[in-house]
Amino acid sequence: MTALLEVSGLYKSFTISGSRALVQAVNGVSFAIQPGETLGLVGESGSGKTTVGRCILGLLDATDGSIRFRGQDITLGGRRSKSRGKMQLVFQEPAESLDPRQRIGRSIEEPLVALKFASNERQDRLLESIGLVGLSEDMLNLYPAELSAGQQQRVGIARAMITRPELVVLDEPTSALDPTARAEIIELLQRIQGELGTSYLFISHDLSTVRFVSHRVAVMYLGMIVEQGDAAKVFAQPVHPYSVGLLSAVLLPNPKLKYETAINLQGEIPSPINLPKGCFLASRCPLVLQRCRDEMPPPENLGGGHIVHCFRHQEVAALDPTTDTFTRFQEEAKRILGVFPVEPQLDSAAAQSEN
Ligand code: ADP
Ligand code: MG
Repeated sequence: MTALLEVSGLYKSFTISGSRALVQAVNGVSFAIQPGETLGLVGESGSGKTTVGRCILGLLDATDGSIRFRGQDITLGGRRSKSRGKMQLVFQEPAESLDPRQRIGRSIEEPLVALKFASNERQDRLLESIGLVGLSEDMLNLYPAELSAGQQQRVGIARAMITRPELVVLDEPTSALDPTARAEIIELLQRIQGELGTSYLFISHDLSTVRFVSHRVAVMYLGMIVEQGDAAKVFAQPVHPYSVGLLSAVLLPNPKLKYETAINLQGEIPSPINLPKGCFLASRCPLVLQRCRDEMPPPENLGGGHIVHCFRHQEVAALDPTTDTFTRFQEEAKRILGVFPVEPQLDSAAAQSEN
């Protein structure tokens, strides 16, 4: 099966005006997204997630590497004509992506104007798109400020879906929403995927949401994907020390649900202007060897698409044996999102693990 999207060896650096320094924002990122699949891209702020998304959409030109959509090279802007409208973006701040002086209906149909659709066809698609996201026709004449944040994000999704895209890049789509609106948007995105088979690149620093929506997950650190694989597997047993650190830093609302780990990352994150030659985590990793400081660990495929860049991944796996942490995490994620009304038996699970 040809992947819908294939990114390989993607690099992106930025020059800083008035300086010769380069910000190395993306450093050799490779991944694929299959039709109908959600890939969660996680990592701390500044790790390069948005830059990856913008390169895919052609909003930024890659410094190196290639991007293929349905097997076709779309790395450079000029080669993108065939993919126009097939990929769309949903932003974090719905209010920012909508023109405050433009009525909702006009905002939603705008991508079709750019694609030179006739006005009757735009009208049909507009009704189809608002039906898909659950907005009513009488909202089309309102202005963004008259809607709630959750409704604004529905507008953002309707606007993305109006071109019937095969891939939607969702850049922190729920981060600005309250928990109820967040749960509704997640439910909406999953329903759209179920109905239309749309693929998602779901960018977020919110791990519980990512776990909930993603089939596969990729963990970014300083512009590299240090580990990627099946979401259930990576969350159950991360084998890169950075993934372990990221998971253990998740603040779960139930204090009994602590992610127990022997790996604590310390020290400063290197600057993307001055990256080390070896593993980018070497200065912070408790398992560091001299070799880690000297060479960048190559990608190692552990099977089933689980890929990690770490010389010591086996030791990491041995240090942090699978417990029921993932199951508890999953249950907690569902509870936080409020999707399932059933209260999981967290207390007994936590009490057992404490013994
Ligand atoms: P994330 O979305 O994970 O928070 P970004 O992709 O926004 O990360 O940023 C990655 C790195 O690139 C950061 O160090 C950021 O400061 C830098 N960066 C992003 N855009 C630019 C730009 N236009 N010019 C210079 N540096 C940038
Ligand atoms: Mg970002």
